[in-house]
Amino acid sequence: MTPVVQAQSIHKRFGRLEVLKGIDFEVAPREVACLIGPSGSGKSTLLRCINHLEKINAGRLYVDGHLVGYREHGGKLYELREREIAQQRKDIGMVFQRFNLFPHMTALENVMEAPVQVRRANKATARDHARELLDRVGLADKERSYPAQLSGGQQQRVAIARALAMEPKLMLFDEPTSALDPELVGDVLGVMRQLAKDGMTMIVVTHEMQFAREVADKVVFMDEGVVVEEGPPDRVISEPRHERTRGFLARVL
Ligand code: ADP
Ligand code: MG
Repeated sequence: MTPVVQAQSIHKRFGRLEVLKGIDFEVAPREVACLIGPSGSGKSTLLRCINHLEKINAGRLYVDGHLVGYREHGGKLYELREREIAQQRKDIGMVFQRFNLFPHMTALENVMEAPVQVRRANKATARDHARELLDRVGLADKERSYPAQLSGGQQQRVAIARALAMEPKLMLFDEPTSALDPELVGDVLGVMRQLAKDGMTMIVVTHEMQFAREVADKVVFMDEGVVVEEGPPDRVISEPRHERTRGFLARVL
C-alpha cells in the first residue's frame, strides 16, 4: 500500500537556521502518528511542509504517492503551479493550536465555506453535509452560533468539522488542545479519538501522552530537527531507548 506520507531525508532551512536535518518518516493509510518533542524541535515545520505551507530544501516528500510541490521529469524537479498545489492541498485537513474560524460566520457557515467556495459544491448539499459533521463533533445544537459565542473547545471542534468538510485523506493536528482550558481538552480529544477509530489517517503533534498511548499506532520523538526514535506508543513512552527521549518524557509526564 502506498504510504499517505513519505518523507525521505528532508531538510528545511530558514536562512542559516537548519530546522529539519534529514527527516525520514512514514505514515500508512489509517495510521495515527503522534509527533512529540520539545518546543523548537521542528514539529510544526514538518507539518507545514507536508501541507505545502513551507518548501523543503532537500530530500523528497510525498503525500499519497505524489511529490509535494514538485513534478519530477527526466530526473529533474519542476515546481508545481498554484492551481496544482491547491489540488494537492485539498486532500489535507489541518487543525491548528488557535482555532482560526471566520469570526463573522456561524458554525454552520464556517463548515460549509470551503466546499462551496473551493469545490463549488451545491449549497444545500454542503449545508446537509456540514450539519452531519457538526453532529459528529457533538455540536448539532450550535450551528447558528458565532465563534465568539462558543468555548475554545467548541470552536476547536468546529475547526475539526470544517477540515473534515473537504473530505481529506489526511488530517494534521498541531497541538490542537494546548490553547484550551483543561476542562475543555477531553471533548476535543474525544472527537479525535473517534476520528481515528473511523479510520482517518492522522498526524498529531501533542503533549497529551495519555492520548498518544491510547490512540497512536506510532509515536515519533523529534529533537533538534531529527527523528530521535519512533515506535509503538507503549514502547517509546514506557521504555524510551534514547537519553533525549527519557529527558523529554520526564518533563511532560
Ligand atoms: P516546534 O513546532 O517543534 O516547536 P517549529 O517547527 O515551530 O518547532 O520551529 C523549529 C525552529 O524553526 C525554531 O527554532 C523556530 O524558531 C524556527 N522557525 C520556525 N518557523 C520559522 C520561520 N518562518 N522563520 C524562521 N525561523 C522559523
Ligand atoms: Mg509547534
